[in-house]
Amino acid sequence: MRIGLFGGTFNPIHTGHLRSAEEIRELFELKRIVFIPSAIPPHKDEMGIISPSHRIEMVNLAIEGNPDFSSSDIEIKRSGKSYSIETINHFKMMHGSDLVLFFIMGMDAFIDISTWKDCVYLFSCSNFVVTTRPGYHRIKLEDILPFDVVRDFSYNPEEDRFIHTSNLSLYFRDITHLDISSSMIRKRIKEELSIRYLLPERVIEYIKVNGIYKDS
Ligand code: ATP
Repeated sequence: MRIGLFGGTFNPIHTGHLRSAEEIRELFELKRIVFIPSAIPPHKDEMGIISPSHRIEMVNLAIEGNPDFSSSDIEIKRSGKSYSIETINHFKMMHGSDLVLFFIMGMDAFIDISTWKDCVYLFSCSNFVVTTRPGYHRIKLEDILPFDVVRDFSYNPEEDRFIHTSNLSLYFRDITHLDISSSMIRKRIKEELSIRYLLPERVIEYIKVNGIYKDS
């Protein structure tokens, strides 16, 4: 079973997240994408991050009716800092050896990956898919990852993937990049500007009804 894990703050989830998940699902023939809102993201300033219960509720509203998308509250339930290695291990433990994981992230998140907990072991636990903008110039792995991680990869040009000694892979894939961010949405709400079409209508309604982000 091929599953995509898409972690994030989702403060709030938006069409950029949803579209990239959809394109990666199709490209890698994934059975499902699981959106996993973090409790406390280790690499972000906590200021302005609304409660996990609001963030997962918005994820659930955004994916409602799509059988290919689901959510997990595993990081929220674990509370404290949300480390991806622990989340990946949780899914592996729950589903056993049938599970093939693809951990999805944008380039902006990948750039910081050397600061992630157990970065050296991450790539032997899951495949990784880094979404990139069309026309983006390929970065060198050694500019981002520590030497003892880079040396475990070899590049396969036919399949355009970096193969790890664990036999799992690291992929960089162009997606339709929608220039939308959660921070841009929060700023627009604060300035009382329209956020229509940047995120699903149901999520916009939820934000309005609950009066969130007005003072963030
Ligand atoms: P913020 O603006 O608050 O920093 P964000 O919009 O970057 O938030 P996150 O929840 O931090 O959203 O991102 C979760 C994941 O989604 C990250 O891997 C990030 O790279 C990716 N991502 C964010 N925005 C987009 C987008 N427009 N298209 C594709 N991927 C995105």
